[in-house]
Amino acid sequence: MISNTTTPKGEVKTHTVVIVGGGAAGISVAASIHKRDRDIGIAIIEPASTHHYQPGWTMVGGGVFRPEVTSRPMPEVIPPFVSWYQKAVTAVDQDKNQVVLDDGSCIEYKALVLAPGLELNWSGIEGLEAALGSNGVTSNYREGMASYTWDMVQNLKQGRALFSQPPMPIKCAGAPQKAMYLSADYWLKQGVQSKLDVQFHNAGAVLFGVPAYVPALEAYIEKYGIDVNFQSTLVAVNGPAKIAVFRTPGADGNHQEREVSFDMLHAVPPQRAPKFIRESTLANEGGWLDLEDDTLRHKTVPNIFGLGDVSGTGNAKTAAAVRKQAPVVAENLIASLRNEPMRAAYLGYGSCPLTVENGKIVLAEFGYGGVLQPSFPKWINDGTQATKAAWWLKAKQLPTLYWHGMLKGREWLARPAVRSTND
Ligand code: FAD
Repeated sequence: MISNTTTPKGEVKTHTVVIVGGGAAGISVAASIHKRDRDIGIAIIEPASTHHYQPGWTMVGGGVFRPEVTSRPMPEVIPPFVSWYQKAVTAVDQDKNQVVLDDGSCIEYKALVLAPGLELNWSGIEGLEAALGSNGVTSNYREGMASYTWDMVQNLKQGRALFSQPPMPIKCAGAPQKAMYLSADYWLKQGVQSKLDVQFHNAGAVLFGVPAYVPALEAYIEKYGIDVNFQSTLVAVNGPAKIAVFRTPGADGNHQEREVSFDMLHAVPPQRAPKFIRESTLANEGGWLDLEDDTLRHKTVPNIFGLGDVSGTGNAKTAAAVRKQAPVVAENLIASLRNEPMRAAYLGYGSCPLTVENGKIVLAEFGYGGVLQPSFPKWINDGTQATKAAWWLKAKQLPTLYWHGMLKGREWLARPAVRSTND
């Protein structure tokens, strides 16, 4: 156990490395830095009391994991060698090398790592937040709500089930579909599929951003008889009336709104970087943290690095990406503290285990530009087809690898590539 640190009023504490966020990225990078240099003083600023293994929420929504296995008290996850401030950062003052906390105090750094994840913009869909958790409206993206998804799936015997996907980028771009496939598989096995109208409403124009995986997903869409609606964006929900409103582009260039009644709605909100990033000069045009693709150093502020969902790099926002990013940030940050060239490169790896049925997964692994980057043998990841071995990996191995590997600095399959040019 670790006790958290407080700052007496007016005093500015200094740490060599300050990490903002104690999620998958913040904890992993702290462990990777410490593994390489035990003398570097590290602080983590993280307001939450609980750490979540979010990739497990899909499995909770599909009735595979118990919800408890996806969460741990934050003090059990924060490494003993860091100073933990249980506060939120409200601003970065890069001229003074300080972060401002929500109690008004400041902490000074030599190097800063920004890993605050992303913000789920629930209010971006009118009525959704109020509707969640009753009348069949649910979301695996909401902390604690995946169990309600599984309740709804088990209770639904007839009627209409809607699954929505917002505009990209979102974390784990496959997760809206994963919820749908696991639900449809259950309904098929229960013999109620023919009494259900299952619809997928995707704000985008394709099933998945990397074409190699689309045929396998299309085969499951056909198997489950799912009605796919592209460029159909969920914009409003009326829970008590059980009505969802979708916006689609009309032929005349104007948008049209369409009401669809439902018995169950699995909704995913639009997503954006936290306000203190997106409204700062550290953000790119899209509001995400403006990092160099390979070094993960900020493009204009050389003692700031970043990783995880907040990043403006073009990779899939996943914990799998974090697994590869943490050692790259650790190596490059230490090199920059020592005034040495940065040699480690991140090639954009991300992975999405698409749970197409209970017992099988299409394991998508790819880097920048959708280039396939398989890291497992063919019997686990054969490139495009669902395998039982990939399910075994996700259901039996990955949670342990997360808690006891990634968060502890055991860098499994995560050796950084070497940069071809040096600064
Ligand atoms: P997070 O883990 O979200 O952590 C961010 C942390 O920053 C939080 O603890 C937060 O409290 C803290 N924070 C926020 N604001 C501040 C602030 N102002 N000051 C200080 N701290 C702050 N990934 C996969 O690899 N495979 C999957 O199968 C998969 N499935 C998923 C399914 C679902 C339903 C969801 C929701 C996610 C899934 N992911 C999956 C994505 C994965 O969980 C994220 O990509 C990963 O957690 C990103 O790590 P992060 O540290 O950037 O963000």
